[in-house]
Amino acid sequence: MILPIVLYGQPVLRQRGRDLAPQEAGVQELIDQMFDTMYNAHGVGLAAPQVGHSLRLFVIDGQGMQEMAATPEEAEFLKTYQRVIINPVLVAESGPKWGFEEGCLSIPGIRETVQRHPQIQVRYLNRQFEPVEETLSGIAARIFQHEYDHIEGVLFTDHLSPLKKQILRAKLTRMAKRGADADYPIVSNIR
Ligand code: ZN
Repeated sequence: MILPIVLYGQPVLRQRGRDLAPQEAGVQELIDQMFDTMYNAHGVGLAAPQVGHSLRLFVIDGQGMQEMAATPEEAEFLKTYQRVIINPVLVAESGPKWGFEEGCLSIPGIRETVQRHPQIQVRYLNRQFEPVEETLSGIAARIFQHEYDHIEGVLFTDHLSPLKKQILRAKLTRMAKRGADADYPIVSNIR
């Protein structure tokens, strides 16, 4: 089932998600719905707050980013980079920050270059609630960082320079007040 995606300006996008309880009821169904919703919107990641649930949960499928890979090895990795991430911990981030253009299903029509560290070490529970430790780099790390931000109440636009933020302010305010066009279902203040 496809869920409507929460648009910029909705308070749930600014809340820190709570941890899931072991084998919490309804989670498997929510995960299926989040994958359906992400694929329908041609996204490569989707966090629970983006479908109205303030939880530390997100899903990833890096396949759609294969063409952006810097090396054949990275493309190969992204092909199988499908993950369910529950209660994650960002253990470490390293390396000099690099810029890459990001977008967000909750902020349709806006894409900007965001600076992030290229390597991360993470810990989380998978779909079966088993503990996983992983080291990720490049685009795979970036997708994780973007989604992790969502469960912390952070959006990619928060990472932009003061000047860029100022340029975007009117657009974002308009989106929060009047909604936006997207080719997938959205929830905004405007019903
Ligand atoms: Zn996003």
